[in-house]
Amino acid sequence: MAYSYEAPVSQTLFDRASLVTPGGVNSPVRAFRAVGGTPRFMVSGTGPYLTDADGREYVDLVCSWGPMILGHAHPQVIAAVQEAVARGTSFGTPGEGEVALAEEIVARVEPVEQVRLVSSGTEATMSAIRLARGFTGRAKVVKFAGCYHGHVDALLAAAGSGVATFGLPDTPGVTGAQAGDTIVLPYNDLDAVRAAFAAQPGEIACVITEASPGNMGVVPPLDGFNAGLKEICAADGALFVSDEVMTGFRTSKAGWYGVDGVRPDLMTFGKVMGGGFPAAAFGGRADVMAHLAPAGPVYQAGTLSGNPIATAAGLAQLRLLDDAAYAKVDAVSAELRSLVGEAFTKEGVAHTVSAASNMFSVFFTDEPVRDYEGAKKQEAFRFTAFFHSMLEQGVYLPPSAFESWFVSTAHDARAVERIAAALPAAARAASEATA
Ligand code: PLP
Repeated sequence: MAYSYEAPVSQTLFDRASLVTPGGVNSPVRAFRAVGGTPRFMVSGTGPYLTDADGREYVDLVCSWGPMILGHAHPQVIAAVQEAVARGTSFGTPGEGEVALAEEIVARVEPVEQVRLVSSGTEATMSAIRLARGFTGRAKVVKFAGCYHGHVDALLAAAGSGVATFGLPDTPGVTGAQAGDTIVLPYNDLDAVRAAFAAQPGEIACVITEASPGNMGVVPPLDGFNAGLKEICAADGALFVSDEVMTGFRTSKAGWYGVDGVRPDLMTFGKVMGGGFPAAAFGGRADVMAHLAPAGPVYQAGTLSGNPIATAAGLAQLRLLDDAAYAKVDAVSAELRSLVGEAFTKEGVAHTVSAASNMFSVFFTDEPVRDYEGAKKQEAFRFTAFFHSMLEQGVYLPPSAFESWFVSTAHDARAVERIAAALPAAARAASEATA
């Protein structure tokens, strides 16, 4: 598809990048392959706005895929970073900042009695799975189709056959052995989970689930789903691992745990807790965490784990995230959801605005979406037209129909007005789109 607007500087950068970096990007979705066109190379961000290399400003509804819940370049976060960076960038020793960040996490999320800091969400889920296996002495792991837990070999198995089955590797490079202990089940289907446990009692180390999925679009757990997982795991001696990399410290002060109150054995965090820096964590029951080196035998380590700049940024951000901040993010999200819904309704576009607290996304179907199969049934081609119209009008959406949209405390009335002004034409483009 050709677009009527251009981004010559971004295009030049993308051409350069493509010569030295596979696909021109350092994380695949940034390449715009799902929607086509030139990925925007951003040069700066302030509050709810991003500015690209061609000097165009966008209202940002990606927020770095979740972390920037206070908006870009929040003065207090920047000040904390500047103060920390002036003291040195990495020591390879313990430091007070990481103690303070761990204390903040433990204070906010009651099931987390102990926590280990790492540098990415992928590292957090990989380590949590290893710990669950080491603690239980079992090999198998249950995950759900459509849930993303980072690019951990065993967790890339997501081929949804719709029944309890051993996952096949979804990507070359993941061997059958690495994925062979992964059981992929349909999301929101407790019967499938019960059947998997019944078929292999005492063999499953853990069930890992996104606390409320945002990686197949936003598909919240049905009432009782997480509680059911917890119960099934407990009955079999398996661990319930809740991946809160996306929802943690975003969907409430205590993440999704603060919304549904289901107590996991282990939890993983990332994104918001790093304040825009590479900081992530996994934590949970003290008796389980005690199995981690050097307290216990399960090895896990990291040169930059608990990095002083990342912990300073994360701590500054978390300390600003009080009840008022969440109320603000929730209110902006609710306002945008209703504006988006109205725009599509007006144009007669079949759609569902799906939300989990302040995370939300649009499915181009009027059928309720409960799992990955349902998400894939939407008319995703409409998203492409919608996305490009919004981009052209200065609103930066996630470049895929299967991603959550994110807002921040910085999304003020002016930012919302700009989005509202862009919606009618974009909804029309979606309505006129053809597959
Ligand atoms: N878990 C979830 C739920 C995520 O959404 C992501 C990333 O989007 C990850 C894990 C992986 O985190 P990272 O990209 O920091 O490795």
